[in-house]
Amino acid sequence: MSNPLYDTLFGCHAEKATPFLHLADGITWTHAQFLELAAQYAHVITDHGLVPGDRLAVQIEKSPQALALYAACVQSGVVFLPLNTAYTVDELTYFIDNSGASLVVCDPARAATLGPVVAQLGAQLATLGADGSGSLSDAASGKPTQFATVARTGDDLAAFLYTSGTTGRSKGAMLTQDNLLSNAQTLAEVWKFTADDVLLHALPIFHTHGLFVATNVTLIAGGAMIFLPKFDIDVVLDRMADATTMMGVPTFYTRLLGDARFTRECAAHMRLFVSGSAPLLAETHDDFAARTGHRILERYGMTETNMNTSNPYDGDRRAGTVGFPLPGVELLITDPATGAELPQGKVGQIEVRGPNVFKGYWQMPEKTAEELRENGFFITGDLGKRDADGYVHIVGRNKDLIISGGYNIYPKEIELVLDEQPGVLESAVIGVPHADFGETVLGLIVPQPGATPDTDGIAAAAAGALARFKHPRKLIVIDALPRNTMGKVQKNVLREAYADTFQ
Ligand code: ATP
Ligand code: MG
Repeated sequence: MSNPLYDTLFGCHAEKATPFLHLADGITWTHAQFLELAAQYAHVITDHGLVPGDRLAVQIEKSPQALALYAACVQSGVVFLPLNTAYTVDELTYFIDNSGASLVVCDPARAATLGPVVAQLGAQLATLGADGSGSLSDAASGKPTQFATVARTGDDLAAFLYTSGTTGRSKGAMLTQDNLLSNAQTLAEVWKFTADDVLLHALPIFHTHGLFVATNVTLIAGGAMIFLPKFDIDVVLDRMADATTMMGVPTFYTRLLGDARFTRECAAHMRLFVSGSAPLLAETHDDFAARTGHRILERYGMTETNMNTSNPYDGDRRAGTVGFPLPGVELLITDPATGAELPQGKVGQIEVRGPNVFKGYWQMPEKTAEELRENGFFITGDLGKRDADGYVHIVGRNKDLIISGGYNIYPKEIELVLDEQPGVLESAVIGVPHADFGETVLGLIVPQPGATPDTDGIAAAAAGALARFKHPRKLIVIDALPRNTMGKVQKNVLREAYADTFQ
């Protein structure tokens, strides 16, 4: 009787007095302490009547307890369903209803408003606060610190993770034990994680990056994490001294670079910096290398597949690329119209197949059929190409592709030109409705602090660098790009806001 995910990530650390979580307040949790609490939670979960395959939805602040709830679900065979802490009660209603969760764990402060909704949906409610207090903890306190691990197979579901909702309504991705395990094994190996690693963890744990990539890799290697509630630059700069590795979204790196206290000395002892969840600008990669001597390792993944590609650990980490398919992952660039594989160098849709690819979207058979081919390839919705050396370049999302007067226009190509212009911090290029062309190109520019970009000059530079059909019809200077919690630019928000520009 085994439970591959539990045994490999958690069970193997039972009773070990080795450090697992170093908290901001200086307290350290050992593996044993963490797993004892997880076992107590597993008792509470089963006391609530949940059986393997049932869903437990959580919306709680990041804490060791919140992470122990993940371990408890894996141990009891219950499907773990973490939710973004920013979601409102209305949004939560959709997720609880859609997932059919039997138990919802929320912050004590939310219990009064969420309680009636949860009850109406036929689920139970328990609470767990950032400080570890709440009805779940009360119920757990007297429970045994051992729990008989429920047998599971690699094909059983371990988690429902909802996508970030960048391009539309969030979809519940059904992830199996093997999906998570295979990726953790692969990443720990290719990124050379060991029990000596201490990962600086300032990411949220309701998203694949902080939950599965960072946490599972650390667990499988037997290392520790400096587990911070959020990215607070003062704390991160202070605690980096005790870390060996860090994983972050691109904004973590731009914020570090924006702080003069972040010096070469601060990062000298670090082994690895990893970036993902959104594109890392080549400029950020280069600036980081110039400041610290470290080349940030950029990788590419998504909720549905965990990680698909990575720049090499040993070897050339190329700015503006996401590296090579991971061992065991097949990657194709295909023609969106026909699905036929395209030759090297051509831009097409990125498809991936491997043990990391999810089972499908929960209760969305049509959506699943559209995106998951019968031969196992998942159509990621991202567009990209492979260069002559095999590095994968992401060009953008299929949904962000601009089709103007019959031409395909990739926003990234234009953004790269705009970003290089004097006074420009970053940019976003979107397609907006246009009577003659169907859609036309709009460029939104964010100035560098204190700068006033010369839009005429920028338009002239873009005209010199790009074919006529790609020229932005208009450039508008804005204060900041709308981003979600993972640092992803919300182009749908921009498209909506500027829809009437040429109407
Ligand atoms: P939704 O699917 O609901 O619209 P989402 O795709 O943003 O939301 P996630 O699964 O969190 O939800 O994000 C995966 C996406 O993030 C990828 O499809 C890709 O577009 C983007 N991404 C991840 N890593 C990188 C990277 N290194 N470079 C560029 N884009 C990346
Ligand atoms: Mg997506």
